[in-house]
Amino acid sequence: MQNPTVAIIGGGPAGLLAAQHLAEAGVPGVAVFEAQATPGRKFLVAGHGGFNLTNGEPTAAFGPRYGAQQPVFEQFLAHFGPEELRRWATDLGISTYVGSSGRVFPAPEHKPAHLLRAWLQRLADLGVRLHTRHRWLGFDGATGLRLRDEQQSTEFTIEPRATLLALGGASWAKTGSDGAWSQSLAAHTGMALTPFAPSNCGVEVPWSDFFRAKVGRSPLKNVALSCGSATARGEVMLTEYGLEGTPVYALTPAIREALAAGAPAQLLLNLKPELPVEAVAKRLQQARRGLSGAEVLRQTLRLGPPVPTLLREAVPAVPTEPAQLAALLQAVPLLLTGLRPLDEAISTAGGVPFAAVDGHLMLRSRPGTFVAGEMLDWEAPTGGYLLQGCFSTGAWAALGIRQWLQG
Ligand SMILES: Cc1cc2nc3c(=O)[nH]c(=O)nc-3n(C[C@H](O)[C@H](O)[C@H](O)COP(=O)(O)OP(=O)(O)OC[C@H]3O[C@@H](n4cnc5c(N)ncnc54)[C@H](O)[C@@H]3O)c2cc1C
Repeated sequence: MQNPTVAIIGGGPAGLLAAQHLAEAGVPGVAVFEAQATPGRKFLVAGHGGFNLTNGEPTAAFGPRYGAQQPVFEQFLAHFGPEELRRWATDLGISTYVGSSGRVFPAPEHKPAHLLRAWLQRLADLGVRLHTRHRWLGFDGATGLRLRDEQQSTEFTIEPRATLLALGGASWAKTGSDGAWSQSLAAHTGMALTPFAPSNCGVEVPWSDFFRAKVGRSPLKNVALSCGSATARGEVMLTEYGLEGTPVYALTPAIREALAAGAPAQLLLNLKPELPVEAVAKRLQQARRGLSGAEVLRQTLRLGPPVPTLLREAVPAVPTEPAQLAALLQAVPLLLTGLRPLDEAISTAGGVPFAAVDGHLMLRSRPGTFVAGEMLDWEAPTGGYLLQGCFSTGAWAALGIRQWLQG
């Protein structure tokens, strides 16, 4: 195989956007190597649910979504932020809109597969060569990359002038993002990677058999969930193993920290976050005499099943006195024993630490090799911040690669 100028390993959003930016800037010989039979599998999985490409909130509010990595992400977002991402989609013929939650979606007539197809066509038109079923095995000397053609069962080395690793995180292994790259990278560079951890995932609650049988899967709408000082609002789903839902995912970093301090950790569930506790107590007081506890909750606060069963599960004795019951409704204690397994998580924390790369995401230990996307050690909540982070790091690394090629 002819040596490409730039080899991009991993055909997810980070790698494909970098390929597009490099080709559009006139860099010849951009090649993408993807281990799977088709690129963008996790991108398509993201499209199965609500496909949040990015978020419509002001760019200034974006930075804090990236937690400890806020300063570097502000730089990436300034280069390729939500506006640029929406323009990119429009340029591919995919219009977007901001939903009521602030999330940015492709217009309903555009399926995720349409977007990916238009994108791959654009890359082909720009002369980007896509090699599917080509797995990166590791480095070969100072500049070489060892690859295996999975179809032909052959191995070979290429010597690009620059490399971008965009190999993804370590969840949803069936999409190709299996994290296996971590061993090759650590072995070849001696780099200490941050261990992978599930992010944006469900939690495990040791429900009783009775609760599991009676409640099963039930939504709790418009609630707030707190872990320590972190709080998130939205819809929580009670499941047979614990909890799922946007507020749970948003609290993953805080929950991980609480569990590390010693399991079980505790979450507090507020079933009426929109009302002050006094107002909740007042409504309870106004309940007609003779109603059962469940009827009081339903008639005064519109809290139907499964709330009464949930309260009995959470505390040994559910108070009937209005002020005490109101306090419980706004802080139902739920014990957690752990996070759901890594492979189920929407995203992965851990990977290549930012200390291992320079300001343009080039590996300090291997000049000419850059890193982008979820394989870097950052995390962000759902709501479009994940894809935005992958696109922004891909665009930033592409800029760094151009400067590197110019010497
Ligand atoms: C169920 C689900 C829903 C999601 N929904 C959203 C959403 O709505 N909004 C949002 O912002 N984010 C969402 N995400 C997250 C988003 O899809 C990922 O963060 C994003 O795809 C990561 O992009 P990436 O380019 O870094 O890596 P990936 O998309 O994981 O791509 C990495 C690629 O590298 C390839 N690869 C791995 N190892 C090798 C190797 N050795 N050689 C060659 N190729 C290799 C893989 O096959 C893969 O194609 C969702 C994720 C999941 C699982």
